[in-house]
Amino acid sequence: MTVSTEDLRHLERCVALAEAAVAAGDEPFGSVLVAPDGSVLFEDHNHVSGGDGTRHPELAIALWAAAHVPVDERAALTVYTSGEHCAMCSAAHAWAGLGRIVFATSTPQLVAWYAELGLPASPVTPLRITEVAPGIPVAGPVEAYAERVRALHAEHHRRG
Ligand SMILES: [Zn+2]
Repeated sequence: MTVSTEDLRHLERCVALAEAAVAAGDEPFGSVLVAPDGSVLFEDHNHVSGGDGTRHPELAIALWAAAHVPVDERAALTVYTSGEHCAMCSAAHAWAGLGRIVFATSTPQLVAWYAELGLPASPVTPLRITEVAPGIPVAGPVEAYAERVRALHAEHHRRG
């Protein structure tokens, strides 16, 4: 699936949210939930620094959608994210019945960056979205974001 100019506009916002997360002392992940008319319904960034490792923006989006959007309208919504959903968030996305996912950077890229930075591997197996939720249409990664997002991870971990 290809990435449109409109998709890039939303991915840009996701990366800006990831930058805001780093500025707030958190890990660089940002995501937005977008309606079919292009309007942003909800957005969030990572909030795991307080000690709750489940506070991923993609999970927050799935929970928000499940609470606020009628079941039959959810598949038409798109989730944009700076980094591909983890297994937890892919599962939540699918259980909530949400639609397409567009990611700026991929899980294999993240795994490689963590290894380069000498960081411990994730406690969760780094499965692709399509391995966890094969029915979800996905697009990404977008190569133009790789260096920028990698630098955010490096910055966050330099700050410790
Ligand atoms: Zn996640």
